[in-house]
Amino acid sequence: MPSAPVKPDSYLEISDLWKSFGDFVALRNISLDVARGEFICFLGPSGCGKTTLLRAIAGLDPQSRGTIHQDGRDISRLPASRRDYGIVFQSYALFPNLTVTRNIAFGLENTGRPRAEIATRVAELLALVGLADHADKYPAQLSGGQQQRVALARAIAISPGLLLLDEPLSALDAKVRVHLRHEMKELQRKLGVTTIMVTHDQEEALAMADRIVVMNHGVIEQIGTPTEIYRDPASLFVADFIGETNRIRCRYSDGAVTIGGSVLHTRTAGHRDGADVMMAIRPEDVLPHSTGHDAVKRPNHLAAQVTGMEFLGSFWRMHLRSAELGDTPLLANFSMNAVRRFDLHQGDDLTVELPPDRVLIFAQ
Ligand code: ATP
Repeated sequence: MPSAPVKPDSYLEISDLWKSFGDFVALRNISLDVARGEFICFLGPSGCGKTTLLRAIAGLDPQSRGTIHQDGRDISRLPASRRDYGIVFQSYALFPNLTVTRNIAFGLENTGRPRAEIATRVAELLALVGLADHADKYPAQLSGGQQQRVALARAIAISPGLLLLDEPLSALDAKVRVHLRHEMKELQRKLGVTTIMVTHDQEEALAMADRIVVMNHGVIEQIGTPTEIYRDPASLFVADFIGETNRIRCRYSDGAVTIGGSVLHTRTAGHRDGADVMMAIRPEDVLPHSTGHDAVKRPNHLAAQVTGMEFLGSFWRMHLRSAELGDTPLLANFSMNAVRRFDLHQGDDLTVELPPDRVLIFAQ
């Protein structure tokens, strides 16, 4: 079968990839171009196929159908040992009986390089991941974050063309995770190595990725930059999975939806007049407009009441109710300044604005 031509700027090209386990189809019709030096995250709920896709790229569990090209070379049928990548797993998978130095040197020793060259390279890597003082320790003598740095150094030791990361941070506690994700991102940028990371942590994906591949039930739901995915989710699934959304059932007509007596204009087009749709808006896009209900006749404004408020440090989480929405509560994140300016308390009436460019409409 002729293979797909590789575009000049793409380093990894996956075309129409499928993977089945017996009758179960774990991946269907996956196509993806990864640019040289790009940091890609596969993000999705448990069981959506992220790890299966990563393992197919690594040749650890080859695809049932479809092709993979890396740097212009068709690697679709190449065994894992002949592919050009380094990999880091969630469980650091270090050799417990080898020192940090020996763990990092392991892959290099198999390449038959001279000892002096290996020693120089290991010293370089130890400095790069900030473990120069721990060279002679054993894995058990290191913290989780330090062990994962060793695993990372080992993966990049042979300067692979591709770095594969399978939930590398999820075994670490929250503080270490946030710190290490910043370090890993910096290191990736410095090395310029094309990287694919599997994660189910949306914040991690938003913070680290150049582009995110959102997966669900074995298919790609959306590929985009973190801001594209967050601001313009392609489906209700993406809107719900990444960040929070208020969801309200309503009817679409001529670029707007009607909720009770209020008209909400939206920039979302392409729905049939009279269609039942789901309106979605993020809590931070629900804006306080004024106290009382004087402005409610204007489009994109709703009369509401504060039914609860929680101080969450950098903002207030507001629980609102609006007669227009019936029983559906509306969540809003207001800044501390806004709460102070409008002098808001539980039980107060207010008018909120839902800006047209933030009102998203999806088919139900
Ligand atoms: P998680 O975040 O929980 O690791 P994931 O998105 O990485 O999930 P995969 O491990 O890729 O999900 O699994 C995708 C689907 O394929 C799941 O339904 C899983 O049960 C199934 N699956 C994975 N490996 C096998 C296997 N060897 N045999 C049969 N089914 C498998």
